[in-house]
Amino acid sequence: MDAIVVPIACHPGIVASDDIDAGRQCKFSSGSSEFTCGHHRQFPSGHSRRGHRLPTFRVHASIIPLEVTRDAKKESLTYDLPKFDNTTHNRVDLVVVGSGPAGLAVAKQVSEAGVSVCCIDPAPQGIWPNNYGVWVDEFEAMDLLDCLDTTWSSAVVYLDDKKKKYLKRPYGRVDRRRLKAKMMEGCINNGVKFHQAKVLNVIHEDDHSLVVCSDGLTIKSNVVLDATGFSRCLVEYEKPYNPGYQMAYGFVAEVDEHPFDIDKMVFMDWRDSHLHEDSVLKSNNDKLPTFLYAMPFSSNRIFLEETSLVARPGVPFEEIQKRMVQRLKYLDINVKSIEEVEKCVIPMGGPLPVMPQRVVGIGGTAAMVHPSTGYMVARTLAAAPIVASAIVERLGSNQSDPMSLSARVWKDLWPIERKRQREFFCFGMDVLLSLDLHGTRRFFDAFFDLEPYQWHGFLSSRLYLPELLIFGLSLFGNASNTARLEIMAKGTPPLVRMIRNLSSMRN
Ligand SMILES: Cc1cc2nc3c(=O)[nH]c(=O)nc-3n(C[C@H](O)[C@H](O)[C@H](O)COP(=O)(O)OP(=O)(O)OC[C@H]3O[C@@H](n4cnc5c(N)ncnc54)[C@H](O)[C@@H]3O)c2cc1C
Repeated sequence: MDAIVVPIACHPGIVASDDIDAGRQCKFSSGSSEFTCGHHRQFPSGHSRRGHRLPTFRVHASIIPLEVTRDAKKESLTYDLPKFDNTTHNRVDLVVVGSGPAGLAVAKQVSEAGVSVCCIDPAPQGIWPNNYGVWVDEFEAMDLLDCLDTTWSSAVVYLDDKKKKYLKRPYGRVDRRRLKAKMMEGCINNGVKFHQAKVLNVIHEDDHSLVVCSDGLTIKSNVVLDATGFSRCLVEYEKPYNPGYQMAYGFVAEVDEHPFDIDKMVFMDWRDSHLHEDSVLKSNNDKLPTFLYAMPFSSNRIFLEETSLVARPGVPFEEIQKRMVQRLKYLDINVKSIEEVEKCVIPMGGPLPVMPQRVVGIGGTAAMVHPSTGYMVARTLAAAPIVASAIVERLGSNQSDPMSLSARVWKDLWPIERKRQREFFCFGMDVLLSLDLHGTRRFFDAFFDLEPYQWHGFLSSRLYLPELLIFGLSLFGNASNTARLEIMAKGTPPLVRMIRNLSSMRN
């Protein structure tokens, strides 16, 4: 077997979960260097959009001694997909660009009402690469429990070596194959047509739009839904796009053994004893902390992911991998083989899309990711019927021009209460961005002491502004004196920003 070096460059906004060839041995390595994180395409190397110098990470001279064998497989569904035929279909009601969870959920529901739909994706049958985790109650509410392949009756948060909190809220891992198959079958049964291509562009005419594909085909449609995730293929954003980034590096592995209970998922492990002998990694982690997120499937099979909750710019993968290797060594976790690797880059917060605009959107492209947590699947699936019924209703009304149809969809997806809620979540993100490791621990110490309905509601986007204000006050009340002082000092500028944005918000 060849030895290969896992690519360690940062990826701008896109997940690359399958970039190591199957069956090869891989070895993480790094040279001696000091580097500056200037990896996002918007910035010249080493500088923020405004020209500020970005934080510098010192990297140690060492070969990271994690050698693993990976049996990567690019999985696909194998349906005989009904293809879009340009010679018989002159025009469709709805083109859905992207067959991720967001796009398929809307395609399925809109087509149920007899609306003609064409779904375009370069790999419509590919199994989604991301290892989705959700709270079980979120999937239960949508009658999707059959789409979880593993559930844990509770979760645990390690704040440090001495303190941990048990979260009595069941957590689940999404069975991606099953969920996608369920949605695809629904689409196929409802007559959705598929076209395998990448969308390059859209041209809007008075009463229809032309969707231009990479293979030269142009598809005429009444409505175009952009569901291309963080690629944001068609949806436009007004202000400079400068979000925070959740960055994570993880893998499903077979291990000799691990120290975690298999009935509890590890929601966050903020312990840092594994870094105590490495002053450089420790001081980097003190400033921009990462935690371990783990799903133990059995005593020797586990998903392990070192995660930076949010940072601007994102913590480089190389740094995250180094911390993870140190953690695994410290926990005595010997990786025997790796099934799948996940490199995660989630843009969080930032501006909302231009509203209204002719193209409609859902999911990652429509800024639906939770700005303080990076979660989105459950919220998007719950929003799909709202988008679908707005499209169906307006298409059926026969009196609506394309722009007012789009305006209605955007308004239903982002009503004023949701915009206010997001503004509060962005405030939460700004507070988190300002906290170091110790501040982050104090924050979550107070957060998970809240009443369950409050922290559940915050994480699952169920609280709206009035409840969120009570949530904020309760969190402040729960916090230690040090944490209160810190929140006041660091939280005041984002608080002022939030109040300003809230007061300028129009319905
Ligand atoms: C690694 C990772 C892990 C995550 N884990 C979780 C989690 O555990 N829980 C959670 O709630 N959220 C999670 N998220 C956040 C979010 O839920 C996911 O990003 C989710 O996949 C977004 O769904 P989507 O349908 O909007 O976009 P995507 O799933 O990204 O799907 C977009 C689709 O559009 C297609 N596409 C892209 N560009 C074009 C184009 N030009 N033309 C045609 N098709 C195109 C792609 O091929 C893809 O099929 C995670 C995100 C990442 C990146």
